[in-house]
Amino acid sequence: MIQLSNHSRLEKLNKKMSACSTCALRSGCTQVVFGSGNPTAKILFIGEAPGKKEDETGIPFIGNSGKILDDKLAGIHIERQDVYITNICKCRPPENRDPLPEEIATCWPWLEKQIEIIQPKIIVTLGNYALNYFLPSAKISQVHGQVTKVEIKKIGKINLFPLHHPAAARQNRKTRALFNEDFQKIPKILKKIN
Ligand code: URA
Repeated sequence: MIQLSNHSRLEKLNKKMSACSTCALRSGCTQVVFGSGNPTAKILFIGEAPGKKEDETGIPFIGNSGKILDDKLAGIHIERQDVYITNICKCRPPENRDPLPEEIATCWPWLEKQIEIIQPKIIVTLGNYALNYFLPSAKISQVHGQVTKVEIKKIGKINLFPLHHPAAARQNRKTRALFNEDFQKIPKILKKIN
């Protein structure tokens, strides 16, 4: 049997995802923002949901939060194209409101398939929404910057590294210091789990 590359598998998945209208978000947004980056990335970043710029361009983390993420990646000598970046919700909620639990649950199978294909060594969650999908009762203030193993149905055990959301880091000096400090741990963690 022919083995499709991760790239082809993600392309096929993205095609299906772009036709998704399972929840109401799709009718209010411009496009489905699947994710971008390396289909065989060791690190998978998962944010909350696309904002205005992401909705316009189809690229996740391209606005102010994306600039922070790019800057932090550059600081640890990792290029954006070396990692994979996506969101827990693939469609922009109206007026950038928080995604609803049912929207996150409806969108999960897409993310699950992305994880299955990419098989990252580590999942870095950005903010509460991504974190709480994997660890529903975890508080970001308590678990940020620490690797936790989580069991994902169909996928198995995976390393989760929760970080604050870049938008929260932008808005609060203390959160920014924690975010910066946690981000710096990524190369060491990668080395350890490789
Ligand atoms: N842009 C995204 O793609 N996701 C976020 O969570 C924030 C901004």
